[in-house]
Amino acid sequence: MTVTQNLARVRADIDDACLSAGRDPGEVRLLPVSKYHDAAAIREAHAAGYVLFGENKVQELVAKADELGPEGIGFAVIGHVQTNKARDVARVATEVQSLDSLRLAEALQRRLEAADRRLPVLVQVNTSGESAKSGIRPDEAVEVARALSSFDRLDARGLMTMAVNSPDEGEVAACFRLLVDAQARIRDAVGGGWDELSMGMSGDFRVAIREGSTCVRIGTAIFGPRPAA
Ligand SMILES: *Cc1c(COP(=O)(O)O)cnc(C)c1O
Repeated sequence: MTVTQNLARVRADIDDACLSAGRDPGEVRLLPVSKYHDAAAIREAHAAGYVLFGENKVQELVAKADELGPEGIGFAVIGHVQTNKARDVARVATEVQSLDSLRLAEALQRRLEAADRRLPVLVQVNTSGESAKSGIRPDEAVEVARALSSFDRLDARGLMTMAVNSPDEGEVAACFRLLVDAQARIRDAVGGGWDELSMGMSGDFRVAIREGSTCVRIGTAIFGPRPAA
């Protein structure tokens, strides 16, 4: 299967999951995750109509953005960002889905002011409780959301999470429900907005769509297994 064929199949599966859940397929965007895959694979997906790609390492994102940005291809950060990488992110990222501390927000704000840019951001929430995963705790969501309103270079659009990696669909759904619940509490506190819920990957996007996802981040099902490091 080619990348183009995989994209068509995954998009059809997303549409199908939306219809089964009684949702409009137009509510769920597909973010292809291109980490570890080369420019040729990304160009193929771009030719199929995709303009934004997920990357989890800043160094790789910078290299790809510098190469492919001039062709109209943008990149969303989906992995943990160290504050000393904030300048690179502020310079080249199109979106940040993995904002996981106010310290990072401050660093991005400062670098974005210098670059005279703004960035859409999603706050990553650790809904699985696993220490290997980044994100704020669900009970910190309201406090972080309130604090973010003072960073005028960051356009807070919503929340992102990774569910527990488990064959038990109930456990996976419980993670996604914690994100929906955090969104509801934020909206109550700040009076609306925060519409985006980025949740769902190759193995669990159907569950995520059932629970209310508006953005699924899909790597393996589109680009194939990641090359061994
Ligand atoms: C790699 C990655 C994905 C995509 O995972 P697949 O299982 O390959 O679809 C999604 N979200 C994040 C944060 C990732 O790091």
